[in-house]
Amino acid sequence: RRPYSDEVKRAQSADSSTGTIFDKIISKELKADIIYEDDLCLAFNDIAPQAPVHFLVIPKRKITTLQDSETSDKELLGHLMLVARSLGTARAPQGWRLVVNNGVHGAQSVYHLHLHVLGGRQMKWPPG
Ligand code: C5P
Repeated sequence: RRPYSDEVKRAQSADSSTGTIFDKIISKELKADIIYEDDLCLAFNDIAPQAPVHFLVIPKRKITTLQDSETSDKELLGHLMLVARSLGTARAPQGWRLVVNNGVHGAQSVYHLHLHVLGGRQMKWPPG
């Protein structure tokens, strides 16, 4: 497991103005452990899992941050949550956590919106 501070450092130096590694995952240029795909979104296991179940749900159309999403993204955002719900419930039936890191203080390191789904163990509160 990668120490949390590494993730925060990565987030603080992330460039939000360019393409991201997730573009390459969507185009299949870069291999990911894809667990679900439809016209609107993709879900894949996180490369550095923080729990026994840890996958990401991302829109194929790029939204940089949740903060930058618009009212017209309502259906897409709802779709991402419903996909997270179905996959999360199937993979971690005892419960799971949905996380969206937003911006620098939110410790976002990849500037392409993604929903983290974490489960398979007892989660703690509050998060760091
Ligand atoms: O919310 P944040 O931007 O910090 O999360 C990015 C996530 O993307 C991290 O959990 C990281 O492990 C994951 N990632 C991945 N595959 C990559 C690059 C990053 O699963 N190739």
